[in-house]
Amino acid sequence: VPELPEVETIVRQLRPLLANARVERVIVRRADIVRSGPARALIARVTGRTIRELLRRGKRILLLLDDGTTLAFHLGMTGRLRVDAPSATIERHTHLRILLGEARGELRFTDARRFGGVWCEGNGSPPPVRFGGPLGVEPLECTWRRFRTVLDRRRQIKALLMDQRVVAGLGNIYCDESLHAAGIHPRTRADGLSREAGVQLLRSIKTVLRRAIRHEGSTLMDYRTVTGSPGSFQRYHRVYGRAGKTCRQCGAIIVRIVAAGRSTFLCPNCQTLPAAEANGPSSPS
Ligand SMILES: [Zn+2]
Repeated sequence: VPELPEVETIVRQLRPLLANARVERVIVRRADIVRSGPARALIARVTGRTIRELLRRGKRILLLLDDGTTLAFHLGMTGRLRVDAPSATIERHTHLRILLGEARGELRFTDARRFGGVWCEGNGSPPPVRFGGPLGVEPLECTWRRFRTVLDRRRQIKALLMDQRVVAGLGNIYCDESLHAAGIHPRTRADGLSREAGVQLLRSIKTVLRRAIRHEGSTLMDYRTVTGSPGSFQRYHRVYGRAGKTCRQCGAIIVRIVAAGRSTFLCPNCQTLPAAEANGPSSPS
């Protein structure tokens, strides 16, 4: 599943290809991929407009048009965006095509499993309902003052970080990597973290995300960049997908547990639960 670094990579690669391009035609090949309403409403709003800017918000890719309309893509599990020549063969599972003229080619959205989608919103849409739901803080822009309020919840830290309404963009890989880098057990209660641990966690999240962006994200299965190449950060994972291997920090064996309902990888030596939580009644999720 593409997380913040993968989506950021795609936005950076798409930006020069799409900026200031004019939408000549929109072809929706599967109407239910449009999540914001009828496909014809999207087509009417977008046709003839110019793409001004591309942004990332959480795991979403935003195309800002010249009249204030925003097109938002969510890649779900298998979604891909690419810019092809108009003559290029149309791949299977291509649900949406945005034609930008002979010179610019066309933006194509494919999604085999269709957990992704596209939203079209005017600038009058109320923020809480935009793009399929409210989004939490952007981790790369989050200050300690803000993050401290994020942590002030009676929830397990991994579940909290995975919640897009609280922190936008983190998923399974980057939660596990960040928690390992900070030396925090995924089941630790967020409001039980010391100030030092909280500061270190925010710092680790930013470091891990920036490194992953430099390596164009992690490819485990489906994710590809706009050029079709895989990311390479999976080679640098410290814990994710490494159960049974040795911790690169301390040499202990990485284990896999279930936390926040998900496969979770950790080093039992680098990441210990605070004694009070390990012995006490099971912590809330
Ligand atoms: Zn370790």
